[in-house]
Amino acid sequence: MGVFLFDDMIFGPVKSRRLGVSLGINLLPNHAKFCNFNCIYCECGWTKNKQALRMELPKAEDLLIALEQKLKESTGTELEPDSITFAGNGEPTMHPEFDLIIRETIKLRDVYAPKALVSVLSNGSMLHKPLIIESLKLADNNILKLDGGTENTIRKINMPLKAFRLNEYVTQLKRFNGKIIIQTLFVRGKYGNEIIDNTTQNEIDAWIKLLLTIQPQKVMIYAIERDTPAENLEKISLMELERIAEKVTAIGIKSEVFA
Ligand code: SF4
Repeated sequence: MGVFLFDDMIFGPVKSRRLGVSLGINLLPNHAKFCNFNCIYCECGWTKNKQALRMELPKAEDLLIALEQKLKESTGTELEPDSITFAGNGEPTMHPEFDLIIRETIKLRDVYAPKALVSVLSNGSMLHKPLIIESLKLADNNILKLDGGTENTIRKINMPLKAFRLNEYVTQLKRFNGKIIIQTLFVRGKYGNEIIDNTTQNEIDAWIKLLLTIQPQKVMIYAIERDTPAENLEKISLMELERIAEKVTAIGIKSEVFA
């Protein structure tokens, strides 16, 4: 498979299907993935943290200097971002200086790109840390993963490297009091001996129930876009994603479909 890894701590801006002109911040190593999930669909490939741990994470100071420079250059041009987006080669909230970095990023945004939204794409695995919850509350777009309605299916899709309890995770998501966007990737297929499918009636019903509890401001529904490390995964059609979105609308929650 083709692996899609970023080679710098600041990347783009790129045209993002979800966030418009997006200037990316990669808090993970360059050219290597560092994550505490091992999603079967991850564009960065399989998680091999031993390899990544030999590499350094970017230092806050260096990163903020580079970000300021990039934002300065883009002010008033067509490259001025719609979103400054924490994404990159893994899970951004694993960076030990995440709180400092997001606070300083917001200050830089206010000066150089006041119309840009600060977005974080996170798998939500660090929400047991109160500081991470507080940091994520600062983001304009606090986008957190929920790839299914049942613990079993989420485990099969995301393959978390540490214990995952869905009821604990939902409790953590509720701590945002609705200042949260849920992102769900729908997928069907097979990995090893496991059948993977978060599109069944049972899964969707359970997922809708979770959304009712979490009450996010919005749900982003999407399908795989590039090569995936697990072979034999099916890209869910736009029509099917739209049918799922209708169920979200029916419970009074906004949704967006990206296929
Ligand atoms: S959480 Fe994101 S970076 Fe980590 S394995 Fe999943 S898709 Fe990849």
